[in-house]
Amino acid sequence: MRTTVENLYALQELQLQTAPASADREAQIKALRATVPAQILAHFDRMIVQGRKGVALVRNGICRECHIRVPSGTAASLIQPKDLYLCDNCGRYLLLPLDEIAAPAETTPAPLPLPTPVRKTRKKPVAAAV
Ligand SMILES: [Zn+2]
Repeated sequence: MRTTVENLYALQELQLQTAPASADREAQIKALRATVPAQILAHFDRMIVQGRKGVALVRNGICRECHIRVPSGTAASLIQPKDLYLCDNCGRYLLLPLDEIAAPAETTPAPLPLPTPVRKTRKKPVAAAV
């Protein structure tokens, strides 16, 4: 099941297409708009009217529209969103693309292996033969 924000993103992609409008696209837009609660749609539409995107993708924990880092708590919540999240900076709805969920870039790479310490062999004093 697609979430509201995914529907909004699909809607945004359709609405921002520069190709001439087609009846098919209009129908898709209408169907998607029907899935989004009116209040959310109103916020989204305000963004679109201002010539801005209403939904921003999050890549590497960074909002792709304003390039500001999303708080790590919000970024973590986006993996399994129970709510809609807005970018603190630009106010767009945040969407974590599926490929980011599959391979979160947040994970720190494995630490480089430390150089194996060279054991200094101390020469044992040779026991004096009696
Ligand atoms: Zn932003």
